Amino acid sequence: MNPKPGHKKKKQTETLDEIIFLGTGGARYVIAKQLRATGGIFFRLGGKNVLVDPGPESYFRFLSYLPKFNAEKIDAIILSHKHIDHSADINVYLDVMTKGGFNKNGILLAPQDAFGEEGVVYKYLLSFLNEVIYIEEGLEFTLGDLKFVFPLRHKHRVETYGFKLFYKDATVSYITDTKFFSELIDVYQADVLIVNLIKLERSEIDHLSVPECAEIIKGIKPRVAIITHFGMTMLRAGPWNIARRLKQMTGVTVLAAEDGKHYELKKLLSY
Ligand SMILES: [Zn+2]
Repeated sequence: MNPKPGHKKKKQTETLDEIIFLGTGGARYVIAKQLRATGGIFFRLGGKNVLVDPGPESYFRFLSYLPKFNAEKIDAIILSHKHIDHSADINVYLDVMTKGGFNKNGILLAPQDAFGEEGVVYKYLLSFLNEVIYIEEGLEFTLGDLKFVFPLRHKHRVETYGFKLFYKDATVSYITDTKFFSELIDVYQADVLIVNLIKLERSEIDHLSVPECAEIIKGIKPRVAIITHFGMTMLRAGPWNIARRLKQMTGVTVLAAEDGKHYELKKLLSY
């Protein structure tokens, strides 16, 4: 039976609010062997599309994990810092999302040291963008219903910032690479906490380890924590084992992020 005229089925235009991991690997050996993808995190919330930390092979992963999505629809890209596992594919995206400059589009947010002679962003691409914003401590950035706050500079070898994202009644924090310090707990209070957990044990390297991550999760008490950006020691131990251990240590549900996995925000808030 033909549907009556005027009763055509409405096209589903509302997109799902979700967070997609284009990669969950970090550090040199994991990148070199691509033991885990290193494509960063893609936020699709409130009809906006924000890509964070596109590391090596990010664009390839983007095409694989989101085959129907057009990269020209990316609204903003955030680089938490210029290290290669967070920025390697940035220029590819800037070219793709602006059609090589034929379609002025998009916003790039990155610390100032990601630009210029020692930076990682090609200068000629910047004029293709609608806006370039230097991330500084305390910066607030609003995009539709999303508000990103970059509360403090991390302790890392280059200029580095995580963010706290406000969307409707929910908050999502992203703690990118950093040495542990207690202020992280104060400024990243959120419902959903994403933490870059690169290594098992404490060491002098400027990265979080499992005991420090437990301290952060215990201090913040989110509904759910997602660990990602695994180095070799984490992969050997099995991130899912570490997630279980962190849950025992903190009482908070902890998920080990998986390459290409879509996490629906509603589901994350239901923990
Ligand atoms: Zn780093």
